[in-house]
Amino acid sequence: MEDRRTECSILVGAGSKPTLPTLPALSALPALPTLPTLPESEIRSQTCVIDTTETGQIRHFSLLPDSYSGQTHRSAPTQGRHIGLPLPQRVVFLDRDGVINKKLEGDYVKSYDEFIFLPGVIDAIKKIKQKGLLVIIITNQSGIGRGIMTEDDLASVHEQMLADLKKEGVTIDAIYHCPHLPDIGCDCRKPKDGLFKQALLDFNIDIKNSWMIGDEQKDIDAGKKAGCKTYLLSKGELLIEAIELVTIQA
Ligand SMILES: [Mg+2]
Ligand SMILES: [Zn+2]
Repeated sequence: MEDRRTECSILVGAGSKPTLPTLPALSALPALPTLPTLPESEIRSQTCVIDTTETGQIRHFSLLPDSYSGQTHRSAPTQGRHIGLPLPQRVVFLDRDGVINKKLEGDYVKSYDEFIFLPGVIDAIKKIKQKGLLVIIITNQSGIGRGIMTEDDLASVHEQMLADLKKEGVTIDAIYHCPHLPDIGCDCRKPKDGLFKQALLDFNIDIKNSWMIGDEQKDIDAGKKAGCKTYLLSKGELLIEAIELVTIQA
């Protein structure tokens, strides 16, 4: 396939649409209105990559590193990983608590010593990656909105989790979290699908052939809203038990 990707700079921030360069095809870019709203102080130039079809239609658009440093999406991925991968990628989206690590009933994982991997989860993620699918975590973390933990606490938990996975040769492609309280009406807390939309901006995703696996109905509702297949873990069911079904069907 001919490489039609173009790199250019755009301005992001302040809730306005990014300022577009004079690339004609960009005027029709559907992804732009959903770019995150950043504080005034964070308006800046970002590099983006545009992938166009032969007729100049936008196939995909993504921002390069550090594009989403707004509060809500601080742990968004740090790379346009699909670059060099022209075809849409299948993804297994995973909820975190109750799927990857032991859920603390009535509490939040505030530090890594409270984070316990569920049995078989590392092998499960390995299997997904071996089948060529991306792994993206989509997690509600309202402990931040409640003031029980901070964004830094969460970032530290995820850094250590990723480091432990790396020791096992496993990588996670991205982690998206919602820090908001349930009643605040944000667009990112599951069962809303805002975090999926974010992932769709950052990666070139074949959403119809992707999966959301969670242990609660709101995970499933969010996945369905985003347009992917879903799998609800039954009580006590482990990811490793579900993954064969999911990756074979994918
Ligand atoms: Mg859960
Ligand atoms: Zn949110």
